[in-house]
Amino acid sequence: MRLVAPLLAFTSEEVWKNMKQPGSVHTAFFPEPGELTAGLSTEHRKRVENWDRLMEVREDVLKSLETARQEKFIGAPLEARVNLWANGSLYPLLERYAQELPALFIVSQVQLKNGDGLSVAIERADGVKCQRCWKYTTDVGANADFPTICAGCSDAVTEILHG
Ligand SMILES: [Zn+2]
Repeated sequence: MRLVAPLLAFTSEEVWKNMKQPGSVHTAFFPEPGELTAGLSTEHRKRVENWDRLMEVREDVLKSLETARQEKFIGAPLEARVNLWANGSLYPLLERYAQELPALFIVSQVQLKNGDGLSVAIERADGVKCQRCWKYTTDVGANADFPTICAGCSDAVTEILHG
Protein backbone atom coordinates (compact mmCIF):
# COMPACT_ATOMS: atom_id res chain seq x y z
CA MET A 1 0.00 0.00 0.00
CA ARG A 2 2.86 2.37 0.78
CA LEU A 3 4.24 1.77 -2.72
CA VAL A 4 0.98 2.32 -4.59
CA ALA A 5 -0.12 5.23 -2.39
CA PRO A 6 1.13 7.92 -4.83
CA LEU A 7 -1.00 6.36 -7.60
CA LEU A 8 -4.06 5.19 -5.67
CA ALA A 9 -4.38 7.97 -3.12
CA PHE A 10 -7.84 7.15 -1.74
CA THR A 11 -7.88 3.38 -2.17
CA SER A 12 -4.52 2.94 -0.47
CA GLU A 13 -5.67 5.06 2.46
CA GLU A 14 -8.82 2.95 2.83
CA VAL A 15 -6.81 -0.28 2.78
CA TRP A 16 -4.33 1.23 5.25
CA LYS A 17 -7.15 1.97 7.70
CA ASN A 18 -8.63 -1.48 7.14
CA MET A 19 -5.25 -3.01 7.96
CA LYS A 20 -5.41 -1.05 11.25
CA GLN A 21 -2.13 0.72 10.47
CA PRO A 22 -1.31 3.84 12.48
CA GLY A 23 -1.76 7.33 10.98
CA SER A 24 -2.01 7.85 7.25
CA VAL A 25 -0.39 5.80 4.47
CA HIS A 26 0.71 9.13 3.00
CA THR A 27 2.89 9.98 5.99
CA ALA A 28 4.46 6.51 6.23
CA PHE A 29 7.91 5.83 4.78
CA PHE A 30 8.37 3.61 1.74
CA PRO A 31 9.52 0.09 2.65
CA GLU A 32 13.21 -0.81 2.41
CA PRO A 33 14.03 -3.37 -0.34
CA GLY A 34 14.70 -6.03 2.31
CA GLU A 35 11.21 -5.58 3.78
CA LEU A 36 9.65 -6.33 0.42
CA THR A 37 11.31 -9.71 0.04
CA ALA A 38 11.40 -10.75 3.71
CA GLY A 39 8.26 -12.89 3.55
CA LEU A 40 9.06 -14.70 0.30
CA SER A 41 9.40 -18.47 0.23
CA THR A 42 12.41 -20.16 -1.39
CA GLU A 43 10.18 -20.97 -4.37
CA HIS A 44 9.21 -17.32 -4.79
CA ARG A 45 12.79 -16.16 -4.41
CA LYS A 46 13.76 -18.50 -7.22
CA ARG A 47 11.03 -17.05 -9.39
CA VAL A 48 12.26 -13.52 -8.68
CA GLU A 49 15.76 -14.61 -9.74
CA ASN A 50 14.31 -16.08 -12.96
CA TRP A 51 12.75 -12.73 -13.76
CA ASP A 52 16.00 -10.92 -13.00
CA ARG A 53 17.63 -13.05 -15.70
CA LEU A 54 14.72 -12.61 -18.10
CA MET A 55 14.94 -8.84 -17.69
CA GLU A 56 18.66 -9.00 -18.59
CA VAL A 57 17.77 -10.90 -21.77
CA ARG A 58 15.08 -8.30 -22.41
CA GLU A 59 17.68 -5.52 -22.27
CA ASP A 60 19.69 -7.25 -25.01
CA VAL A 61 16.61 -7.85 -27.13
CA LEU A 62 15.43 -4.24 -26.80
CA LYS A 63 18.87 -3.02 -27.97
CA SER A 64 18.68 -5.23 -31.05
CA LEU A 65 15.13 -4.08 -31.76
CA GLU A 66 16.20 -0.46 -31.50
CA THR A 67 19.05 -1.06 -33.96
CA ALA A 68 16.66 -2.79 -36.38
CA ARG A 69 14.27 0.13 -36.06
CA GLN A 70 17.01 2.71 -36.68
CA GLU A 71 18.08 0.76 -39.77
CA LYS A 72 14.41 0.87 -40.89
CA PHE A 73 14.34 -2.93 -41.06
CA ILE A 74 11.22 -2.78 -38.90
CA GLY A 75 8.92 0.12 -38.10
CA ALA A 76 7.54 -1.09 -34.79
CA PRO A 77 8.63 -3.97 -32.50
CA LEU A 78 5.40 -5.85 -33.29
CA GLU A 79 6.67 -6.24 -36.86
CA ALA A 80 9.54 -8.35 -35.54
CA ARG A 81 10.29 -11.94 -34.82
CA VAL A 82 13.10 -12.34 -32.31
CA ASN A 83 15.43 -15.27 -32.78
CA LEU A 84 17.19 -16.10 -29.54
CA TRP A 85 20.12 -18.44 -29.17
CA ALA A 86 21.00 -19.53 -25.65
CA ASN A 87 22.73 -22.37 -23.86
CA GLY A 88 23.58 -23.61 -20.37
CA SER A 89 20.89 -22.91 -17.80
CA LEU A 90 19.52 -19.97 -19.78
CA TYR A 91 18.01 -22.08 -22.55
CA PRO A 92 15.72 -24.14 -20.26
CA LEU A 93 14.73 -20.94 -18.44
CA LEU A 94 13.71 -19.24 -21.69
CA GLU A 95 11.93 -22.40 -22.78
CA ARG A 96 9.94 -22.41 -19.55
CA TYR A 97 8.80 -18.84 -20.12
CA ALA A 98 8.43 -19.20 -23.92
CA GLN A 99 4.74 -18.27 -23.82
CA GLU A 100 5.49 -14.99 -22.04
CA LEU A 101 8.45 -13.89 -24.16
CA PRO A 102 6.59 -12.13 -27.00
CA ALA A 103 4.70 -10.00 -24.43
CA LEU A 104 7.92 -9.36 -22.48
CA PHE A 105 9.69 -8.05 -25.59
CA ILE A 106 6.49 -6.58 -27.12
CA VAL A 107 7.09 -8.43 -30.41
CA SER A 108 4.88 -10.75 -32.45
CA GLN A 109 7.00 -13.89 -32.39
CA VAL A 110 9.97 -15.36 -30.53
CA GLN A 111 11.93 -18.34 -31.73
CA LEU A 112 14.27 -20.12 -29.32
CA LYS A 113 17.33 -21.98 -30.48
CA ASN A 114 20.06 -23.87 -28.73
CA GLY A 115 23.34 -22.11 -29.42
CA ASP A 116 26.49 -20.59 -27.98
CA GLY A 117 26.02 -17.97 -25.29
CA LEU A 118 23.19 -15.52 -25.77
CA SER A 119 22.67 -13.99 -29.15
CA VAL A 120 19.81 -12.14 -30.72
CA ALA A 121 18.76 -11.71 -34.34
CA ILE A 122 15.79 -9.70 -35.54
CA GLU A 123 13.73 -10.87 -38.49
CA ARG A 124 10.44 -9.67 -39.88
CA ALA A 125 7.54 -11.51 -38.27
CA ASP A 126 5.63 -14.10 -40.30
CA GLY A 127 2.10 -13.43 -41.41
CA VAL A 128 0.08 -10.25 -41.55
CA LYS A 129 -0.97 -7.65 -39.01
CA CYS A 130 -4.11 -8.34 -37.00
CA GLN A 131 -6.26 -5.22 -37.04
CA ARG A 132 -7.32 -5.76 -33.43
CA CYS A 133 -4.13 -6.60 -31.48
CA TRP A 134 -1.60 -5.41 -34.11
CA LYS A 135 0.45 -8.58 -33.75
CA TYR A 136 1.64 -10.32 -36.89
CA THR A 137 0.29 -13.86 -37.12
CA THR A 138 -0.24 -16.49 -39.76
CA ASP A 139 -3.85 -17.05 -38.70
CA VAL A 140 -5.39 -13.69 -39.59
CA GLY A 141 -8.70 -14.46 -41.31
CA ALA A 142 -8.78 -18.06 -40.03
CA ASN A 143 -12.28 -17.27 -38.80
CA ALA A 144 -14.24 -16.29 -41.93
CA ASP A 145 -16.56 -14.07 -39.86
CA PHE A 146 -13.60 -11.81 -39.01
CA PRO A 147 -11.30 -11.70 -42.05
CA THR A 148 -8.97 -8.98 -40.71
CA ILE A 149 -8.19 -10.29 -37.23
CA CYS A 150 -6.20 -13.20 -35.80
CA ALA A 151 -7.60 -16.45 -34.40
CA GLY A 152 -7.06 -15.40 -30.77
CA CYS A 153 -8.85 -12.08 -31.31
CA SER A 154 -11.66 -13.86 -33.21
CA ASP A 155 -12.27 -16.04 -30.15
CA ALA A 156 -12.32 -12.96 -27.92
CA VAL A 157 -14.68 -11.02 -30.19
CA THR A 158 -16.98 -14.05 -30.55
CA GLU A 159 -17.17 -14.30 -26.79
CA ILE A 160 -17.93 -10.57 -26.46
CA LEU A 161 -20.69 -10.81 -29.10
CA HIS A 162 -22.27 -14.05 -27.99
CA GLY A 163 -21.23 -14.35 -24.35
ZN1 LIG B 1 -5.22 -10.29 -32.87
